[in-house]
Amino acid sequence: MDKNNFSRPIDIKRVKVTDPFWQKVQETVRREVIPYQWEALNDRVEGAEPSFCMHNFRAAARLNERRARPGFAEPQYTFRGFQTLPEDKDNPDPDRFYGFVFQDSDFYKWVEAAAYSLQNHPDPELEANVDGAIDIICAAQHESGYLDTYYILNGMDGAFTNLKDHHELYCMGHLIESAVAYYQATGKDKLLNAAKRYADYIDQCFGPEEGKCKGYPGHEIAEMALFRLYELTHEEKYLNLGNFFLDQRGAEPNYFLLEEKRRAIDEGRHEPENDPSPYAYYQAHKLVREQEEAVGHAVRAGYLYSGMADAARLTWDESMLGACERLWEDIIKKKLYITGGIGGTAVGEAFSYPYDLPNDTAYSESCAAISLAFFARRMLEISPKAEYADVMELAMYNTVLSGMALDGRSFFYVNPLEVNPAACKTDKRLEHVKPVRQKWFGCACCPPNIARITTSAAAYAFTEREDAVFIHLYMGAQLTASNGMKLTLESSVPWEGEAAVTVHTDEPVSCTLAFRLPGWCKKPAVAGPGGMVPDERDGYAYFTGIWRDGDKVELSFPMDVRLSAADPRVREDMGRAAVTRGPICYCLEQADNGENLHLLRVDAGALDKAVVSETEICGHKMRALELEGFRTELPPEGAPLYSDYAPLKESPAKLTLVPYYAWANRGEGEMSVWVRV
Ligand SMILES: [Zn+2]
Repeated sequence: MDKNNFSRPIDIKRVKVTDPFWQKVQETVRREVIPYQWEALNDRVEGAEPSFCMHNFRAAARLNERRARPGFAEPQYTFRGFQTLPEDKDNPDPDRFYGFVFQDSDFYKWVEAAAYSLQNHPDPELEANVDGAIDIICAAQHESGYLDTYYILNGMDGAFTNLKDHHELYCMGHLIESAVAYYQATGKDKLLNAAKRYADYIDQCFGPEEGKCKGYPGHEIAEMALFRLYELTHEEKYLNLGNFFLDQRGAEPNYFLLEEKRRAIDEGRHEPENDPSPYAYYQAHKLVREQEEAVGHAVRAGYLYSGMADAARLTWDESMLGACERLWEDIIKKKLYITGGIGGTAVGEAFSYPYDLPNDTAYSESCAAISLAFFARRMLEISPKAEYADVMELAMYNTVLSGMALDGRSFFYVNPLEVNPAACKTDKRLEHVKPVRQKWFGCACCPPNIARITTSAAAYAFTEREDAVFIHLYMGAQLTASNGMKLTLESSVPWEGEAAVTVHTDEPVSCTLAFRLPGWCKKPAVAGPGGMVPDERDGYAYFTGIWRDGDKVELSFPMDVRLSAADPRVREDMGRAAVTRGPICYCLEQADNGENLHLLRVDAGALDKAVVSETEICGHKMRALELEGFRTELPPEGAPLYSDYAPLKESPAKLTLVPYYAWANRGEGEMSVWVRV
């Protein structure tokens, strides 16, 4: 590990995103998603599943008004799994907790997205709204500092008794992330102080000292959040607590097993076996430093690995970095969809076995792709290698964005690579796959997560260190580096591969500008000013020297239409290809190609005839592709199901493909990423 390589995300306050692609996404989030989510968190979206998120905070702060009317009956409630629901959804008990045990986190993610959005685009009305909501959250905080409405409302005796499944530490993680972001955006520290109080309380309860709890979060995120809080405050206790959680995970005796045994004794059940393997779902089956395979719930895994990468950087921990590199390798070599999604199976929303990447039953949760981008960015902060940025870009331009409709009003939780709406409606195995995006979810982790990563996209595009600025993603922007040098980046990515960076400086500045050479481009061309020659390392072109006002670096990344094949170990993709161009993964949709997409075959020998054309879906300009191919002719209706083998009868067909992220914006229909060759 070479500390001299470390870089940190640029402060997004010093970036103005001018990129037409990302500006449009960020404007959609600002105008549609953030206000819409606020309504959803307050249960005011008609036809959407109620969230009860703000209801719970108000209940914990005793701010909900009881409806005093004659004949008021105590409402009934049911506890289903981890979700508490009122019998009568229009008449929830004003003092009771509803929703999932982790419902608080939806609010925190919303605040975090609002904070980034405020940095990109000041909005006094939004800021006032957030401030008002923060007052409610702070009023709900227990005097000890504890802040989780589930136990504040259901009885504090239960606090920290079910770390495995009851997400209190997860909610703290999101609280910290939102509080730091809001403080950085506005300078206001009310939420930050609440977050610190909660973290301090947890620090009093958890740790290596005698008498303290030896547990750790069932759903990770507290680790990376505590490291972020440490980097803001420089208070070592937060660094130590984050490291404690990482080191305890999977340590013997397994804490989750102890917890289950305690519960079994209390409930008079048989104690569970001394077997830690079921805790692979929580990545708690062995010590994190010894983990070699990405397993279990994919979002948890991505958040854990992100925290591990932070720890490796902050404490120069080679063994932690080694684990991160092994886990990264396992994901990208064996468990990554071509769309940048992870988590192949709906069972446990989890990684499946190596090379099991089904297309129609895929889970590929939006949050999981986000967690992969988090992990990739943190690995880039340690070692600038293009492979990390390639995967980060893949996730961000494809699965992260497919999670949200182009108009920002509906969302996917699951991002399949192949959809037949009729199958989704009749086949129980596809129950999790929705052919159209939904307005909201009872478990609404994904929509606010998409909002927070897209509004902070610049922090993924650019990182810097004292003597260098790294351009990882070609996002048009004006930015000011920490050395005061201003840069204007113009880019036609993702639709074309031209980019240029111009330097603005009063005095000559000595530093390095490092440009990623995207893995999707076979012949990148870079040209610096006045004979400056780049030094190429790990997929980055480094220009080092004295920069003067007006100096320019021009980059050209020719984009071919490419057919990609999967490793033949991936059964599902055998004999099929995916079409990509630049960072964008394409798909076939029924809207362009009619039904029965499986009858189509692409002519791999006629790729040079591919036509790239401008198109527009829901007011979003993009490039569509037209490829030469064939369509299998169907025998007449009623033909025998089986007959003697004969080559398929095919007729020539044009295949139209649109970006995967833009699918399902034109009504319900079939979709497929992989096409026969
Ligand atoms: Zn999610």
